[in-house]
Amino acid sequence: MARDTSPQCKQCRREGQKLFLKGERCLTDKCGVERRAYPPGEHGRGRQKQSEYRLQLREKQKARRYYGVLEKQFHGYYEKASRQPGITGENLLALLECRFDNVLVRLGFAASRRQARQLILHGHWTINGKRVNIPSYQVRPGEIIAIKAETPATQVVRDATELTGQIPAWLQADHESLTAKVLRRPERREVAAPVQEQLIVELYSK
Ligand code: SF4
Repeated sequence: MARDTSPQCKQCRREGQKLFLKGERCLTDKCGVERRAYPPGEHGRGRQKQSEYRLQLREKQKARRYYGVLEKQFHGYYEKASRQPGITGENLLALLECRFDNVLVRLGFAASRRQARQLILHGHWTINGKRVNIPSYQVRPGEIIAIKAETPATQVVRDATELTGQIPAWLQADHESLTAKVLRRPERREVAAPVQEQLIVELYSK
């Protein structure tokens, strides 16, 4: 399965802000953005030309990197969002937010999306009692997420729960039993992604 393997700190520096791609390290002063707050590359410290297109492109790239999705799949989410009723940008964010790997991060069961992805691919999680090893799986209201019984990943997941901030209201988690429930679809105000989705819609609808 294709994934973005470029250095994560460089991705944050390119977007000019912390995207929290590395879990615990992002909370320390080793963070790449804290240490070198300018874009990577030979001309990173040069003057950047600003244009409407550039702003839209950067916003799309930022969202893609934040959720760890490649271009083709990201565009597929946009197409799906534009066919759904309601506001396309909000639909797009809801689709990204409901990815199984993102949900594990929001629940505090993984320190980063990359770690969540690995835990899922290795078959450590079940949904409604069935093993699900697809990181892009769309969770649905009412579904029960649980760690597989006696899996060796339990300690990694417990360590991740200690880094957890607030769990969004559309999810419910039990950090003792390492189970969770999806209560409903997320609303826009509950999506913590640092993204202006309208710019992405403008870019794709050109
Ligand atoms: Fe981004 Fe985390 Fe690296 Fe900081 S440490 S630049 S937030 S991936």
